[in-house]
Amino acid sequence: MRSEVVLEIFRETGALLEGHFILTSGLHSPNYLQCALMLQYPNRAEEFGRAIAGSFLKENIQLVASPAIGGIIIGHEVARALGARFIWVERDHGEMTLRRGFSVGERERVLVVEDVVTTGGSTRETVQILKAAGAQVIAAASIIDRSAGKADVSVPRIALATLDVPAMDPAHCESCKRGELATKPGSRTMGREGLTS
Ligand SMILES: [Zn+2]
Repeated sequence: MRSEVVLEIFRETGALLEGHFILTSGLHSPNYLQCALMLQYPNRAEEFGRAIAGSFLKENIQLVASPAIGGIIIGHEVARALGARFIWVERDHGEMTLRRGFSVGERERVLVVEDVVTTGGSTRETVQILKAAGAQVIAAASIIDRSAGKADVSVPRIALATLDVPAMDPAHCESCKRGELATKPGSRTMGREGLTS
């Protein structure tokens, strides 16, 4: 699946916005990405799951594992397409852990799947937990890579599309300099934040 097609589906479903936004970090950006808005359409999730699985058909993947919550829907679809088992890891008192009785087999061949890789931190933590539990982590994958290819997750990694999302301090934001109002998508105070920043 071509990168432009992926991004077009994100735009169509409102999962990728262009404008002037306040990110969770407080930084400003001309792009806003919310994968959950694309994943609310199961047929799209299935399509992306099959596209990711396509790169691993010869790898004999036995298990797909995802960091919660963001990776669960897409990871499940990738596992379905590969005929593999699916589990997730989640934070417990700040630490990523395997809970709910989930376990991995000794030398089990695992693919780690996330919706979006930004710094690669949660994918890297997931890889570490699985390796510590005895699994072989073959690779990692995500729908979007917003690190512009830079994130290192300690195993080979692929993404269906790569985005270089600029994020800047409001003091250096071009849109702010032009007097454009910044919005915080997904927030009830949308349209107000820019006035106070
Ligand atoms: Zn701004």
